[in-house]
Amino acid sequence: MLTSLNANKAWRQASAAATELRRLASTDELTGIANRRYFFAAAERAVASRRRYGRPLSVAIFDIDHFKQINDRHGHPTGDDVIRAVATIAQQSIRKADFVARIGGEEFGLLLPELTGASAFEACERLRRAIEVGLATTPVGPVNQLSVSIGVTEARDEDLDTIIRRADQALYAAKAGGRNRVVSSA
Ligand code: GH3
Ligand code: MG
Ligand code: MG
Repeated sequence: MLTSLNANKAWRQASAAATELRRLASTDELTGIANRRYFFAAAERAVASRRRYGRPLSVAIFDIDHFKQINDRHGHPTGDDVIRAVATIAQQSIRKADFVARIGGEEFGLLLPELTGASAFEACERLRRAIEVGLATTPVGPVNQLSVSIGVTEARDEDLDTIIRRADQALYAAKAGGRNRVVSSA
């Protein structure tokens, strides 16, 4: 009896530890949102499900504008505050069905299930605006005129790499076009 109770307790502890390990493996330490690994796993699942059920899916990548200047002028800790603020605002402003993750230093990935080209663009425009407005009032120190550029694309019957590459090209076009804007690539 005692042995079985002990075994039960040990099993529960191991199970809780495994859950915590999974959480740590999928969470970005700085911001607390999903990390790169989790983003690509979720994106692979979303792409597979789009193919299977023919439901729309759009994918976006966004990146903080002139972030190096923030670090250079205000220091790395303030830079970190800005990254955290962007993550929090993004997490709060997207729909329940959407998924946002930090996929690089100051770069984020966004999955938009059920959204086609035009509505995905609008969703990204709302996010861009929410970040612009949110950062203007967030106490991250004497930093102003913070913004992000966003590249977005609708997935077709293609692999994730191809979709990501197109979103990346759209992001590059948004940067080249003057930043603080959304570019959609069909
Ligand atoms: P652009 O508008 O073209 O995106 O310019 P940028 O300066 O934002 O772009 P770039 O990619 O050249 O600079 C990104 C900088 O982000 C470089 C790196 O030092 C900084 N960075 C990367 N990860 C972190 C981080 O975790 N914390 C902080 N504070 N800075 C980081
Ligand atoms: Mg940047
Ligand atoms: Mg970058």
